Amino acid sequence: MSTWLRNVRLEIGETTYEDGSIQTITDLFHIQVANEGVIQTIIPATENVSNADAIDMKGKLALPALKEMHNHLDKTYLSLGWRACRPVKDLSERLALEAAELEQLAETAEQRASAMIELHLSNGVNHIRTHVNIDPFIKLRNLEGVKKALKAYEQYLTYEIVAFPQHGLLAHEEMPDLLRQALESGATILGGLDPAGIDKDIERSLQVTMDIAKEYDVDVDMHLHDRGQVGFYTMDKWLDMVKEQDYKGATAFSHAFGLSKLSPHMQKKFAEKLSVLNVGIMSTIPISINSELIPIDILREEGVKVALGCDGFFDSWSPYVPGDVLEKVHNFCDYTGKSSERSLRESLSLITQGITPLNGEGEPVWPKTGDEASFVFVDASCSAEAVARLPKKRRLMHKGKLYNSRH
Ligand SMILES: [Zn+2]
Repeated sequence: MSTWLRNVRLEIGETTYEDGSIQTITDLFHIQVANEGVIQTIIPATENVSNADAIDMKGKLALPALKEMHNHLDKTYLSLGWRACRPVKDLSERLALEAAELEQLAETAEQRASAMIELHLSNGVNHIRTHVNIDPFIKLRNLEGVKKALKAYEQYLTYEIVAFPQHGLLAHEEMPDLLRQALESGATILGGLDPAGIDKDIERSLQVTMDIAKEYDVDVDMHLHDRGQVGFYTMDKWLDMVKEQDYKGATAFSHAFGLSKLSPHMQKKFAEKLSVLNVGIMSTIPISINSELIPIDILREEGVKVALGCDGFFDSWSPYVPGDVLEKVHNFCDYTGKSSERSLRESLSLITQGITPLNGEGEPVWPKTGDEASFVFVDASCSAEAVARLPKKRRLMHKGKLYNSRH
C-alpha cells in the first residue's frame, strides 16, 4: 500500500542569466509515499499515475518540514482569550509575577500547549523542542500537561522536552532533585538559565548542570541571556568544562547574547571553539533597538550548528503571537541584508536541520527516494520566494501523514 501525491513542485536547479542574476528552476512531479512514511518513487508529472487515492497537490511547492527549536509550550495564554502583559521594573519582578500565576495556569497546561502545537503544525512544523518549567512552585505539573498534549499529536510531529529551571537552579535547594525527577518523567534534555544573572554563582551552577547531565546521559540546552563580558565568560567556562569532561556534541546555548558585542575577530575565534566542541546555538532572532543580533553568519561560516525557534509567545513575557518559525528566517534575512536568490534559499536550512532542496551549487539534493516523506506544501514558486513572501496557506505532511489544519 502506498499513496501518490500528484503535481508536486520541486526545485531542480538554477539558471544564471547574462546579467549575473540567478533564478531557481522547478518542475512538477508525482511522489509515491510508502505506508511507512518514506518516499518510494519520484517521477515526472508528465507520466501517468493510475491510482484513485492519489492526492492532487495542484502545483504547490514542497519544502522540507520545518523545525521549531526553542519554544515554551507551557507558558502560552493561547486558548484563554486576550490579555496584555503587566509592566515590571526588572527580571526578578517578572519572575515573581510568573510565579504568582503558575499554580492557576498549570490547570490548563495541556489545553494551552495543544493550541500552540496546532498553530505550529498549521505553519508546517513537524518537530518541536520545548522548554518546560520545572520549579519549586508547581514542580512537574506543567511537564505532565505538555507531555499529554505532545502525545496526542504524535502522528504529526516529533519532539524534545527540556527540563527548564526558570526560577533558578541554586536558589531553591530542591531544584536539582526536581530536575532529576523531570528527567525520569519524560523530559529528554536538561535546561539551564543564566548562571550569573539568576544563580549568581557561575562555576557552581555550571558544575551542578554538568553533573546532572552526566548522571542521566542527556543533552544540555542552556538559556543564556546574560550579556557582555559575563555572558561570554559563562559560555567560555562551559566550553572548557565540555572539553575537560568529554561532553562534546551534546550541548547548546539558547540566545547566547554574550556573543553580540564581541569584536568580529573574537566572534570568529569563539565560533571555532564552539564548532570544535560541536556546541549548537538556538536563536529566536530577537530584534530591538537596544540589542544587536548575535553573529549567526560568522557562526555558520565556522561550522557551528544554528537553529531557530519562536520562543514563548502570547504569555506573561510578551503579548505577541507571531508563532511562525518561517517568519523568523524571513526576519533574519531582512535584518542581515540577504536579498539574493541563493542567500534567501540557503537560509531555509536554519529551520530544517540543514536540509535545502538545492545545495550551494544549485544542484538538487532533496527530496530523494528513501527520504522521510515529511514536507510543508506552500503557494510559492521556489524556496527563496517562500522565505521572502511568507505564504500563508501551508499544508504539513509528517512521515506520510497529512495534517488537516483547523486554522
Ligand atoms: Zn526560552
